[in-house]
Amino acid sequence: KQIPVITIDGPSGAGKGTVSRILADKLGWHLLDSGAIYRVLALAALHHGFAADDEASLVALAGALDVKFDVEEDPDLTHIILEGEDVTMTIRNEEVGNMASKIAALPRVREALLRRQRAFKELPGLVADGRDMGTVVFTDAAAKVFLTASPEERAQRRYQQLLDKGFTAKIDQLITEIRERDARDTNRSVAPLRAAEGSLQIDSTDLSIDEVVDNILEFAYSKL
Ligand code: C5P
Repeated sequence: KQIPVITIDGPSGAGKGTVSRILADKLGWHLLDSGAIYRVLALAALHHGFAADDEASLVALAGALDVKFDVEEDPDLTHIILEGEDVTMTIRNEEVGNMASKIAALPRVREALLRRQRAFKELPGLVADGRDMGTVVFTDAAAKVFLTASPEERAQRRYQQLLDKGFTAKIDQLITEIRERDARDTNRSVAPLRAAEGSLQIDSTDLSIDEVVDNILEFAYSKL
């Protein structure tokens, strides 16, 4: 039986995480936060003191990574457990995000994480959030979405998110980091950030979360 997948790709801060979680809740489907997998690997690499370009060590680490996504504990937040330690909050900091974006440029690291990501595709369906969900990981997805927003708007949202989680941040620095990460994600040779063929493209700069969710649901129902 075909397992339906909706892919939500786009740059960081476009609202993919929030939108994907709401969609998964509404549909009663599984959720893959693929960025969290890159972040967990980045955190583990930082723990081990591996350099961001040490591809052999990172590939070995990716294969052996002991990570669990716990959805039972808390209905509002997937708890991420790395080697028995709850790293749900730790992986969200900017240092980990920057390391994640660097190691995500390595082709063999991406390949080593493919199977782990595809394992999330289970009945009754999957909402997959990332950069290459529609273009690489789930090419046969029923409905593909590319969600963007202006860098300034995305920096503003990230700023608010960080404050809400008890971190401090500087808005100018966030804009610079967002532009740098966009450039890295867009210009890398493997799985560069781009809209999948046939995807619904949404610019969320002036849209509410509900408007984005409704657009995607309408599109998905027309495809499923
Ligand atoms: O989405 P998030 O900010 O958590 O992702 C962290 C980093 O992981 C991104 O900057 C990106 O470089 C990388 N990533 C990726 N492919 C994905 C998801 C995330 O390359 N599917």
